[in-house]
Parts: sequence; C-alpha cells; structure tokens
Amino acid sequence: MKVFKFGGASVKDADSVRNVLSVLKKVGYHNTLVVVSAMGKTTNALEVVIKQYIDKNPDLKQTITELRTNHKAILTDLFEGSNHPISETINAIFDDLSLLLDRNKSPKYDYIYDQVVSYGEIISTTILSAYFDFKGITNEWLDARTLIKTDSTYRDAKVDWKETQAAILNNINKKSLTITQGFIGADTNNFTTTLGREGSDYSAGIFAYCLNAESVSIWKDVPGVLNGDPRVFEDTKLLNQISYEEAIELAFYGASVIHPKTLQPLQQKEIPLYVKSFLNPEGSGTAVSKGQTLEPFIPCFIVKKNQVLISLSSLDFSFIVEENISEVFSLFHKYQIKVDLIQNSAISFSVCVDNKFGHLDKLITELKANFKVSYEENVSLYTIRHFNNEAATTLEAGKEILLKQLGTETYQIVTKQ
Ligand code: ADP
Ligand code: ASP
Ligand code: MG
Repeated sequence: MKVFKFGGASVKDADSVRNVLSVLKKVGYHNTLVVVSAMGKTTNALEVVIKQYIDKNPDLKQTITELRTNHKAILTDLFEGSNHPISETINAIFDDLSLLLDRNKSPKYDYIYDQVVSYGEIISTTILSAYFDFKGITNEWLDARTLIKTDSTYRDAKVDWKETQAAILNNINKKSLTITQGFIGADTNNFTTTLGREGSDYSAGIFAYCLNAESVSIWKDVPGVLNGDPRVFEDTKLLNQISYEEAIELAFYGASVIHPKTLQPLQQKEIPLYVKSFLNPEGSGTAVSKGQTLEPFIPCFIVKKNQVLISLSSLDFSFIVEENISEVFSLFHKYQIKVDLIQNSAISFSVCVDNKFGHLDKLITELKANFKVSYEENVSLYTIRHFNNEAATTLEAGKEILLKQLGTETYQIVTKQ
C-alpha cells in the first residue's frame, strides 16, 4: 500500500484540486491512502477565528462567512454549478462550527484551538472525496479522529501508537482508495487533538508506519528537497537522495519542506519517503531512504525566522552551573519553548528559541526572578549542513551576526532579522 500526502498548497483552489486528481490518475491510485491538509491558508484563517472568539471580537461571524464563501466558490467551480448535495454538506459543517463556538463552555485556549482548527481538514477532505466520486473515482472517506489516537496535549498531541495501530488496521481497507485528514487526531474522550502546525506530513508517516506501507510520497510545490528554501536562497539545487539520518537533521534544523517528526517512524521500518512536485509528478523528486547521506553532497542552507535569542547571567556574579541550567530547562518545558541552539560560557548562557506557543512573556517574567535576562526577538537562525568556507562567507555577507557556532558538520549563526 502507498501513502500520499497533499498539503495546503496542492489543494488551494479548484484548479489545484483538479490537478490532484490528474496526479493520481498519472501515478495510480489503487491501494492508496491519501492524506490531505486544509485548503490553502485555511488553517491561518481558522486561527483568526479562534482569536476573535477568545477576544469576543464581533468580526468573528464575518471571518467565518468569508471562509464559507471561499469554499463555496471552489465547490461551484469544481462541481460545474450542478446542484450537487456537497454544498449542503459543507454548509452543515460550517453551521456545526458556529454551533460549537456558541455552545463551548471551556475556557481552555489549546482545547478550543484544536476543536476549531480541525474543521479545515474535515472540509477539504469532504470536498475532495465528493469531487473524486463526481469524477467516477470511487473512494472511502475516513475521519482521522477515529484512527490517530493521542493524549490530550492539545496543539501538540502525542500519538498513542498501540491504539492508533489497532484503529488503522481495523478500519482501513488496504485495497481501496482512502481519503483522510492530516494534522488531526482524537484523545481518549474523543475530543479533537492536533499534531502541531504543518503536522500533516507527520500524519502520513504515522499511517505509513501502522500500515507497513511500501512508500510515502509528499506532493509539494517544489521539485523535491533542495539544498535550501528557494523562497530564501538563490541557485538552489535538487537533492536526489538523502539518508534518513541526514533528512532528520535537515528537518530538525528547520528545512520546513518535511515536518521533523515524519521521518523517525519511516526510518524504523525503512519505508522510503519521496518528496515530489505536484506540478511535475513525473519528475524524479527526492528519495529519503537508507543509503547515501546526501547525493549530490553539497552544503545545505536552512533558515528559521522569528526566533528569540535569550541570554542569561546570574544576579550575583556566580557561574552558570548545572543547577541553574536544569532550572532554566524546566521553565522552557513548562512554557513549551522549543530550544534551537545553546551556547554557554562561565558567566552567561544563551539560547535561541522558538516561541511558537506564544508563552515568551511568561517565561521571561519567571526567569527574571533568578537571572539577569536580556533577549532579542525576531532574530533568524541560519544553519549550513556540510558547510565549507565559501558557503559560510556567502551566507554571512551583509548580515549582523549575534552568535556563531561551529560543529564538524554544522555551522550556525543567529542574526538580526
Ligand atoms: P505543504 O504544506 O503544501 O505540504 P510546505 O509549504 O509545508 O508544503 O512545504 C513546501 C515549501 O517548503 C516550499 O514551497 C519551500 O518554500 C519550502 N522549503 C523550505 N525548505 C526547503 C527545501 N530545503 N527544499 C524545498 N523546499 C523547501
Ligand atoms: N493544515 C495544517 C497547517 O496548516 C496542517 C498541515 O498543513 O500540515 O498547519
Ligand atoms: Mg504545510
């Protein structure tokens, strides 16, 4: 069985949805599980809905109406203006979202977030499944919340592998074409959970692992994994082959073309991951599999923007020792601060972190009780894997460097902006 994943960019409008079907027709769609994300930037729009709901902002209704209108326009285009029942189905899902918000009693932000944001994937997959049927491609739509079982860490749920494996094997017919959602799952109370932003790649990895799939293909708007994000770096080159270990490193350092959690389950069962272009499905793409570290073996450039550089020193001129550091890390854990880079000296300790859950202010307040704290927001963390002098010099040109760190394989700088 094969697992395919189509992300937001590949289903952003009616033409894109038609293209997904044409990709499937070209490469074959039997014995296939298709994991789909929310359409285009729907998840971002739903994040606005959540914020407006929490803030009791009266624009909330209008934001939902806009989302409804956008999806309706896609439906009209896809179903050629026919009176297809899908319009009613999608309307009912949007009504359900409004009802959920009206009835919600929970004050818990992360819980509400997951209940709301998951509508993006439910809607996109419902549309795709109906469209495939409309075009004569029989398929089965499954709710990923009955398959991906997690704990209740809303917005960053951890997979219960045993329960998930059982649910997947009991419910997925390996012989047919199945359509399901990326990103979402459910906890033991059947409340919706999510696996973290951009988590649909990870969903594909989970399904593949549990199904012992023959391969996973993630269909992107780039020819494959390049040696840098083409939106940021010039003259990028396609990487033909990457080992699991190397791909895990690249994703960990922030090569956002693959979600970092995707690869470990695949590596365990040696399931190859193909990163391919939905615009050129016959192109060779990139294979992540057992074998050569990197082919071609060239420096790879990665950037993480909007990071925060925090520097700590003690209030009483003492050294920063293990005890302080363990206290600092327990605070990072408490506030879900993801640490990207660490540098310490006798009297100071610097970390570059990702404030993706928005808890930085609380962290800084608590740190200030015991340390002298300085921090700079909106810094960028650049990484070069397999660096050489030329690559480092080119990268450094014109940048204001706040911190630099070199390893044997990896070069990193933190810069302003
Ligand atoms: P989707 O969510 O539609 O699956 P993403 O937007 O998450 O896709 O991933 C594709 C994007 O990843 C590309 O448009 C590209 O800008 C970015 N990207 C970042 N690093 C790389 C890289 N090393 N190679 C290719 N694309 C990259
Ligand atoms: N729709 C979710 C997001 O935008 C998950 C994904 O696309 O991978 O984060
Ligand atoms: Mg994405």
